[in-house]
Amino acid sequence: MQDEQEIIVDIVRNFLGKEKLHYESKGQYSFNCPYCDEGRNKGNLEINVFKHVYKCWSCGDSNDTHGVLGKLIDEFGTKKQKKIYSLFKPKEENKVEPKKPKFKLPEGYTKFKDSNPIYPVYKQAMNYLKERNIGEDIIEKYQIGFCDKGDFMGRIIIPSFDDKGIPNYFIARSWNKTTRAKYKNPQAEKDKIIFNESLIDWEKDIYLCEGVFDSVFLPNSIAMLGKHLSKLLFETLYEKSKSNIIIALDGDAWENAVKLYHELNGGNLFGKIKILKLPEDKDVCNLQGKIDEFYFEVK
Ligand SMILES: [Zn+2]
Repeated sequence: MQDEQEIIVDIVRNFLGKEKLHYESKGQYSFNCPYCDEGRNKGNLEINVFKHVYKCWSCGDSNDTHGVLGKLIDEFGTKKQKKIYSLFKPKEENKVEPKKPKFKLPEGYTKFKDSNPIYPVYKQAMNYLKERNIGEDIIEKYQIGFCDKGDFMGRIIIPSFDDKGIPNYFIARSWNKTTRAKYKNPQAEKDKIIFNESLIDWEKDIYLCEGVFDSVFLPNSIAMLGKHLSKLLFETLYEKSKSNIIIALDGDAWENAVKLYHELNGGNLFGKIKILKLPEDKDVCNLQGKIDEFYFEVK
């Protein structure tokens, strides 16, 4: 490693001169920038031999003096130096950033309408939904299904679709009471999506709730997939929401709800935030439309 480091730094020294500072254990060296230094000896261009990158802290953005080290050596090095460097250059450097694999709903995801009610797995899944008061209208609207094979076997699947109707997430809830992990998450990052954005009407009142199983009982609602608002959801609400936002967290999350209220109550949204405070024996799924009786005024 030491040798490799020394060889690469030597190549750079050949066209940028001696380094101004070095931090060998981190593989970091600073040189005068060939574009913006103009004899001032600032040492603004930094290379990292371990990471194979460089950047001028002064003109990195304006002169595009940043990127993979190979780019700098291509620009200033001799043919021979480029060839030497190519022996050490990380292989990925030549490739374009690999495209993220397309998000897929889980293997075996089956909508109820595409299955047969006499199929035992169908029955188990449907019984679970019935216990939670989830009827056919909700199943249809949210394209709720189940998995009868693969990693998510034995789970109810509620898919999420982005604003263009492309699947981007799902939740997978086990219907087996003895399963230890009630939920199993897909690989995708939940903070990078807005669950079922495809179903949101930004002109109307929007309910914010914790889980998807609450969300299906609230009109025009977004499940935060937790008690906290992601940066993406916060920004999207600010930009798109034209009406009221009603915070509808579980009864045990009152402090989170108040915190959320204060986070949201500003700018375009000022005066439009409400909190739904439910009596302890009530859950959003058994309100049956009488939601606004429970609005709570925050002072
Ligand atoms: Zn520069």
